[in-house]
Amino acid sequence: MIDRDFLLSTIRDVPDFPKPGIVFKDITTLLNNAEAFTMLMEHLETRYKAMNLDFVAGIESRGFIFGAALATRLGIGFVLIRKKGKLPYTTVSEKYALEYGVDEIEVHIDAFRGEHKRVLLIDDLIATGGTAEAAAKLIKKLDQELVEACFIISLEFLEGKKRLEKITPVYSVLEIA
Ligand code: AMP
Repeated sequence: MIDRDFLLSTIRDVPDFPKPGIVFKDITTLLNNAEAFTMLMEHLETRYKAMNLDFVAGIESRGFIFGAALATRLGIGFVLIRKKGKLPYTTVSEKYALEYGVDEIEVHIDAFRGEHKRVLLIDDLIATGGTAEAAAKLIKKLDQELVEACFIISLEFLEGKKRLEKITPVYSVLEIA
């Protein structure tokens, strides 16, 4: 069973990081708590084991931790969605708006080993939803079936989940109002 209050209590708030006014949700204190990390991964495994997934795709960099752990629990492959310029082979990319300027994420063109694969997208946290929306578009661009987007934490007040729900089902483990 999942104890959401316990999991929330293991996430550390770091005020004014990386800049003034932002409260950074630090999940390193969840990861180094064996009881919390195991409880979370058991919960995700239970949710996704009957969904007949082919791949988990994680967003750099904290999405890699949860995504890779989940993929091995499900016995399926893991795909890396990275910031521009990090992946060595041929990529497809998607731009997205930041508060100031634009950023870009990429995935290897052959990452899903074919088309119409059932993919779960995962990241640690959804804030405005810009990063996840670009990742979802990338998966669709490669003609894959995006089954759901999963986040450990949703910052509900920023309404990223609402934005993303227009293009994919969304699940969050913990909601912060
Ligand atoms: P967004 O595109 O606005 O939904 O931002 C999501 C990405 O930024 C995720 O990869 C998060 O890890 C990171 N992020 C945004 N806001 C926070 C926050 N308050 N605490 C921790 N990570 C954050």
